[in-house]
Amino acid sequence: MPLLLQVATTNPGKLRDFEVAAKPHADDVAFARLPGMERIDPPAEEGATFEENARIKATEYSRHAPGAIVLADDSGLEVDALHGAPGVRSARYAVDAGFDPEPIRPTDDDTRNNVFLLENMRDVPPLRRTGRYRCVLAAARDGECIAVAHGTVEGTILEAPRGSGGFGYDPLFFVPELHQTMAEISLEEKYKISHRGHALRRLLTQLIPSPREATNL
Ligand code: IMP
Repeated sequence: MPLLLQVATTNPGKLRDFEVAAKPHADDVAFARLPGMERIDPPAEEGATFEENARIKATEYSRHAPGAIVLADDSGLEVDALHGAPGVRSARYAVDAGFDPEPIRPTDDDTRNNVFLLENMRDVPPLRRTGRYRCVLAAARDGECIAVAHGTVEGTILEAPRGSGGFGYDPLFFVPELHQTMAEISLEEKYKISHRGHALRRLLTQLIPSPREATNL
């Protein structure tokens, strides 16, 4: 019987990443969205680090699902030229700054964040546009954290978006080894190289004695 992990997220992009991530580990693990998430008041993500926030989310949400293993993800983009911003504020980067540009006025948070990021990096030359995605996954049961794992992927921030896949900052996040942005590669490829993929494989080695990975994806 695969181990069931209930994912505490309402972010459709993260959910899609986890669905793809489940495929190579189907014998060992199954992911489901934590039932009734929309009725639970989200805990305040007041941690100064991704790990603190991931632990807060996993432990708090697990109190609403007695006996279940609840998985929470806290992740974001760190840009070197911006001293690590947007960092833990990645999801609310533009909103927190009150950025609402005329005449574009993007309505969705992801587009607004990307426009704001490009605006803040307007004078940063190509060689200094380095950064990384960072992801911390925490698993908790009955209000207690039982495993934590980290993952990163290095990249550079383009001057204009490319590609229509992925979510968040993916159209701007260029992966040098692949010569493509995260929004141009398939979700299967993303899982192999991404911060979330690395963190998940590390987490599974803690939760499952010897996780197998199917090679024929
Ligand atoms: P969280 O929900 O507080 O962890 O915020 C995560 C935010 O970081 C997302 O809303 C995105 O803006 C960004 N982010 C995290 N992972 C990814 C990814 O895989 N692709 C693109 N953006 C990401």
